Amino acid sequence: MKRREPRQRQRRHIDRAFDALRHDPYLERSKPAGSAVCPDCGAVYRRGRWQWGEAGERAKPHLCAACRRIRERQPAGHVKLGGAFFAGHREEVLALVRNEETREKRLHPLQRIMTVREGRDAIELTTTDPHLARRIGDALASAYRGTLAVRYSPDEWRVRVDWRR
Ligand SMILES: [Zn+2]
Repeated sequence: MKRREPRQRQRRHIDRAFDALRHDPYLERSKPAGSAVCPDCGAVYRRGRWQWGEAGERAKPHLCAACRRIRERQPAGHVKLGGAFFAGHREEVLALVRNEETREKRLHPLQRIMTVREGRDAIELTTTDPHLARRIGDALASAYRGTLAVRYSPDEWRVRVDWRR
């Protein structure tokens, strides 16, 4: 396997951080000037990031990026699960998906599953952040193998994850 040089990898990370500021309107609009509390989910904005906890007295109401995406029905991640193995282990696979969400959301309030649409042979779910969609795909591939396809939008702020087995 080819490995990238650490410096190059770090460079890419920095570029991405700039891209994030430039392109993701949801993150931009959910950055309040001072401390804030989300009226929908209760997440608290403090020291530059959204977190769970008690809001201070001066916290102003401000919708977080996840709740704004939920209200406007604009998911950042699409995850599709399908295949014969999935059909036979649907509950088990979904439990793993929910578990990933719970673990992420505990530390990062903006990482959430938005909707789950159950079809006969496949399930499609949406997420409030591309990171969670990607993470769910990786967790499924490492637990069950199968085929994983991940496609980012050119600005990297939306992602489609397809997992089949
Ligand atoms: Zn919120």
